[in-house]
Amino acid sequence: MVQQSPGADDIAANLALVRAEIARAAAEADRSPDGVTLVAVSKTQPAERIRQAIAAGQCVFGENRLQEAEDKWPALRDAFPDVRLHLIGPLQRNKARRAVELFDVIETIDRPKLARHLADVMAHVGRRPDILIQVNTGEEPQKHGAIPEETDALVALCRDELRLPVRGLMCIPPIDEEAAMHFALLHEIARRTGLADLSMGMTADYPKAIAFGATFVRVGTAIFGSRTTP
Ligand SMILES: *Cc1c(COP(=O)(O)O)cnc(C)c1O
Repeated sequence: MVQQSPGADDIAANLALVRAEIARAAAEADRSPDGVTLVAVSKTQPAERIRQAIAAGQCVFGENRLQEAEDKWPALRDAFPDVRLHLIGPLQRNKARRAVELFDVIETIDRPKLARHLADVMAHVGRRPDILIQVNTGEEPQKHGAIPEETDALVALCRDELRLPVRGLMCIPPIDEEAAMHFALLHEIARRTGLADLSMGMTADYPKAIAFGATFVRVGTAIFGSRTTP
């Protein structure tokens, strides 16, 4: 009999497959699967599909657009207070307050001005989401993220001067390059700056990211199926 992979409509089965793959990749890397948190990327997914994932035991989600997250998540958060929400898309300075009010982890801090503003906003709002520094490991001009050379100074500013709750680093490798070298670079920058968390790996490459030390993997398509809109 041919083994069929579950379709986009079987979110619970897809989640089980991804969790099994995480466990396998962690074991292969001599790591505990508990050291890898699955961030289910629910961008473009309606609340009903997110509810299916929550019903299947998923409790950490990622969104890339603030407005979309504000439309979907306040009601979900009321219904499921234990869910944790990550911002994985770019953050504009004038929207920092709204992001601080909604998210538990902001993965995309990438420049000093934004970091300084965020510190002010956190002081005013009285809420302190965890912070990851986004690194543009491929130094792509059109892409967000601090370039590797600037990252140590940005970490120092955020953590030591601004006293932001900086937990780690995040990267999105160039699509046309071998991801492994980018994962290795992010791991090295985290090591030398003494940061614990690494957010790296998406549907195409999360087992590899786990081999390179990922503590957050951001997986959308393998859970929810392919997106019709970007
Ligand atoms: C969309 C997105 C993902 C998930 O990508 P998939 O290939 O669907 O798993 C991960 N990280 C970021 C920053 C994204 O925007």
